[in-house]
Amino acid sequence: MNQATEQGTLFVISAPSGAGKTSLVSEMLRNDSRLGVSISHTTRAMREGEQDGVNYHFVSRDSFEAMIARGDFLEHADVFGNYYGTSQVWVRETLAKGQDVILEIDWQGAQQVRRLMPDCVGIFIVPPSAEILRERLTGRGTDAPEVVERRLLEAREECRHAVEFDYLVVNDVFENALTDLLAIVRSQRLSMNRQRNRHGELLSGLMAAD
Ligand code: GDP
Ligand code: ADP
Ligand code: 5GP
Repeated sequence: MNQATEQGTLFVISAPSGAGKTSLVSEMLRNDSRLGVSISHTTRAMREGEQDGVNYHFVSRDSFEAMIARGDFLEHADVFGNYYGTSQVWVRETLAKGQDVILEIDWQGAQQVRRLMPDCVGIFIVPPSAEILRERLTGRGTDAPEVVERRLLEAREECRHAVEFDYLVVNDVFENALTDLLAIVRSQRLSMNRQRNRHGELLSGLMAAD
């Protein structure tokens, strides 16, 4: 298999709301031009500062349900009372081009993706404590107090699924967590599965050398 047609790696990143996954993923993209992130569809209301087509594709419940019926989603889930889903076509086409793809999705979506694409790499991000999670969610200033409370309750459920993932990253010092995430991506690219396709000629040459 040549490099141009080699499939990219799919990274599935989950975390309780407010753990820092969106900030970390956006820094990962700035540091690594071979990474792309899937822009999910959602029925939740747009937050101040968010843009349609950038943070999410914001759609009505009716359009979302029509997309489910058409089979447009690789996975979808009801999270905190809103629908969220990942576009099937975009993910498959982007991986087929050889680009690595990140999905920032909840544990229910991660389970669905793991079943469909067992080669995906799962990463779970946690805050250093429950108190800090509360501070970050409140400090972000994007959600009403009752929404924050609901997300904190759901955080416990999300964390119960942490062990289903391949890697665990603690987002205490932001830069350290970012370094850990970039290291996971790099180590996947160095795995024998990937490297033996890329360096097949080198390996055969070395084996044949006198
Ligand atoms: P935030 O994560 O606190 O910034 O809040 P959001 O409202 O942006 O996301 C809420 C939850 O929905 C998070 O747990 C996300 O991981 C999850 N989520 C976002 N997009 C998707 C998706 O396409 N599919 C699934 N299953 N979950 C998603
Ligand atoms: P998520 O996408 O997981 O909900 P965000 O990326 O929106 O989380 O982060 C939640 C809040 O915490 C944001 O205001 C962000 O700037 C802040 N934050 C993220 N990581 C850290 C960190 N390591 N230290 C302090 N604040 C952080
Ligand atoms: P925001 O606060 O608007 O979510 O993030 C603004 C920018 O700062 C983003 O690029 C995000 O990745 C980065 N960022 C968010 N939190 C931290 C942090 O605690 N430390 C550092 N170094 N960068 C951060």
